Amino acid sequence: MTEEDKNFMRRAISLAQEGMNANAGGPFGAVVVKNGEIIAEGYNKVTSTNDPTAHAEVTAIRKACENLKTFQLDDCILYTSCEPCPMCLGAIYWARFKKVYYALEQTDAATIGFDDAFIYKEIELQPENRSIPFAAILREEALPVFQEWDKKENRTKY
Ligand SMILES: [Zn+2]
Repeated sequence: MTEEDKNFMRRAISLAQEGMNANAGGPFGAVVVKNGEIIAEGYNKVTSTNDPTAHAEVTAIRKACENLKTFQLDDCILYTSCEPCPMCLGAIYWARFKKVYYALEQTDAATIGFDDAFIYKEIELQPENRSIPFAAILREEALPVFQEWDKKENRTKY
């Protein structure tokens, strides 16, 4: 961790403050950096945009991809003011970041009412035993689309 890393994290923390002051959503901020330059910034906008997926990390990822015109951020580093929730963790993997720095930990978020631990526990449960029940139906009818994708010649792989 360098002085530069600390400064990018400080920017993520100030975005968390900014978003909170603007009543955009929860107190979370994130910054996407490539080659020592900020590509995109974001803060949580869940309650102001009625978007449960508008976490700071997802907001920053969407902007970074838009700015770089790519769906992969494999040369990028994410600085987030708090350890990512399972949704953002997934987004981080899909975006293929090369590194993630976080300041606060999941346990810190839990103390102010943002408890992600239960989602991690849900992942380990059988789908039908989750607090939101998942049920598999119509697999046979859905399968041809997958088979077609598998044979499709002009597909964009990712
Ligand atoms: Zn999240």
